[in-house]
Amino acid sequence: MITDPWLEAALFIFGLCIGSFMNVCIHRIPRNESIVRPGSKCPSCNHAIRFSDNIPILSYTLLKGHCRDCGHKISLRYPVVELLGGLLSLSISAKYPLSLEWFIYYAVSAALVVIAFIDIDHRIIPDHLTLPGIVLGFGASFILPELTPLDSLIGAILGGSILLSVGLLYYAVAKREGMGGGDIKLLTMIGAFLGWKGVLFTIVVASFVGSVTGAIVMLKSDKGMKTAVPFGPFLSISAIAFIHLGPDLVSWYLNLNRY
Ligand SMILES: [Zn+2]
Repeated sequence: MITDPWLEAALFIFGLCIGSFMNVCIHRIPRNESIVRPGSKCPSCNHAIRFSDNIPILSYTLLKGHCRDCGHKISLRYPVVELLGGLLSLSISAKYPLSLEWFIYYAVSAALVVIAFIDIDHRIIPDHLTLPGIVLGFGASFILPELTPLDSLIGAILGGSILLSVGLLYYAVAKREGMGGGDIKLLTMIGAFLGWKGVLFTIVVASFVGSVTGAIVMLKSDKGMKTAVPFGPFLSISAIAFIHLGPDLVSWYLNLNRY
C-alpha cells in the first residue's frame, strides 16, 4: 500500500506513458508492424507526430482530438487507453507492494487490455502475445508469493482444457466454430499467471458477463443469433478483476466456509 502522494503521481504518469505504448501495440501488433520503430504517425496524413504532441491525455486535450497537420479526428480511444494505463498502475499499487510482484501484475494487466482491444478490432488474439505469456506466467510462479509453480501449471492446463472442451462441444452441437483457438490460448496464459482459483474465477465471471452482453447485443441487432461477440475482452476484464480482488475474495470465501 503506497501512501506517498509524490510516488503515486509518479506511478500514475508512468502508467499514462505505458498506456500510450499500449495504444501503439493495439494498432501495430495485428498489422505485424514493429512496436519500437518508427515513431507514431497520423493514420490519415502520415505526418510524424511531434514529441510535444505525443504527451498522454494532455496533447489530446490541447489539440481537441484532432491531428495538428491535417485536422483528422483522433479516436477518443487513445486517451481512454492512456488513462487506463495510469489507473491500473495506481490500482495495482494499492493492492501489491511496489516490487517485482507489482511489475508482473501491472505488465499482465496491460497485456490483457492490449489483447482485449485487438480482439474487439480484428477478432483475433495474437499468438505472439499469448504463447510467450504462458511461459512467462510459469516463470512468474517462481517469483509471485501467491502462486506456486504447481498452481501455475494446473491453472494453465485447466484454463486450456475448459475452453477446448467448450469449443469441441459447441462444434459438435452447432456444426460451426464458436470458440476460437485464440481464446483457448488466452485462458491458458491467464491460468499460468493466476493459478487454478484465478482461472475458475475468470471463466465463471467472463461467461456470465459475456452471455448477458451477448444476449443484449443479439436482441438489439437484426442479425439475431449469428452476431458473434468476441470473448477475449470478457476473459481479460475478469482476469484483471481477479488480480485486484482475487486474493481477498478467495480468503473471504475460505473463511466463510470455516464456520
Ligand atoms: Zn494528420
